[in-house]
Amino acid sequence: EGFCKKLPKIELHAHLNGSIRMSTIQELWDRKADRSGDLPFLEAQKTKDFQSAFSMFSVIYQLVQGLDVIDRITREVIEDFAKENVIYVELRTTLKAYDDKTKLDYLDVVLKAMRETAALHNIEVNLLVSINRAESLENAMEAVELAVQRKDQGVVGIDLCGNPVCGKFSELRPALEKARREGFKLTLHAAEIVNYGETQEILDFSPERLGHAVFMTDDLKSQLFSKKIPVEICITSNIKSQSCDGPLGHHFGEFYRKSHPIILCTDDMGVFCTSVSQEFSIVGDTFQLGREELYDLSLSSIDCSFASEASKETFRRRMRESRTSLG
Ligand code: 5GP
Repeated sequence: EGFCKKLPKIELHAHLNGSIRMSTIQELWDRKADRSGDLPFLEAQKTKDFQSAFSMFSVIYQLVQGLDVIDRITREVIEDFAKENVIYVELRTTLKAYDDKTKLDYLDVVLKAMRETAALHNIEVNLLVSINRAESLENAMEAVELAVQRKDQGVVGIDLCGNPVCGKFSELRPALEKARREGFKLTLHAAEIVNYGETQEILDFSPERLGHAVFMTDDLKSQLFSKKIPVEICITSNIKSQSCDGPLGHHFGEFYRKSHPIILCTDDMGVFCTSVSQEFSIVGDTFQLGREELYDLSLSSIDCSFASEASKETFRRRMRESRTSLG
């Protein structure tokens, strides 16, 4: 555990609102005038099926209202990553409009909080603008256009997320194609539920990365392996949303043995009560990986990031420099 915390790490799959601190959620709840009973969130945090895990986001959205809260949680989330020696984060978030504030205002608040907090904590942070698959193509197009407007300010890619039973990749595809033409890197949530047809379409689209990739046929897996598309692996998230039985049965094992590019990620630190260090510790314990192997896993994740080549070199140097003190 000590080693996993000290190990310099990078995080490539973290949803802003899902990474909110429990203590902040509690504080926002306590401040609410019309609250009754216990925070429903605490109950919801126990292992649930996939859809009830998802319903936690609506609880968060009732409490996280307004750009002052968005500013605060962006800063806290980055601080929390920095505290456990995460040296680079790609945060992702769905742009929202609150009252008289626009989605562009939301984006600007997040970017400013990112810049300022990163400078304080010796961590580099970039942003992926999320497209929620439940939304319309028009909304998705708008998200890409806003990302374009802030391209040089830390927006490096576009994510497709949201409840996998809602919406269709094929209908939102024009927005993702536009993002690609604009020079953004793409990471798409894929195979979180059984939907082999869509998973095939996503593989054919060849995004730069995939999130999860849980429910795959042997054929889909062999296509993934030959295309070498890196996969963001979120073990605690998959277990707590009952997409897999436990760490031992998680597809990490198979992907790792095949030397497929994988990145250990938290998904939603607050909702799933985890940390990047904990994810490393889980794979170390479950799959008997030693310090060398965990170090190499962290080092190789850097290749999968959407950071600039110069930044990637900096992260590799920081990892090499840490090596002697890690023991
Ligand atoms: P936000 O984009 O509001 O900052 O972060 C929360 C949102 O991220 C959720 O409402 C949901 O759309 C998306 N999200 C968080 N975790 C998951 C996940 O495990 N799977 C998928 N598909 N989407 C997720």
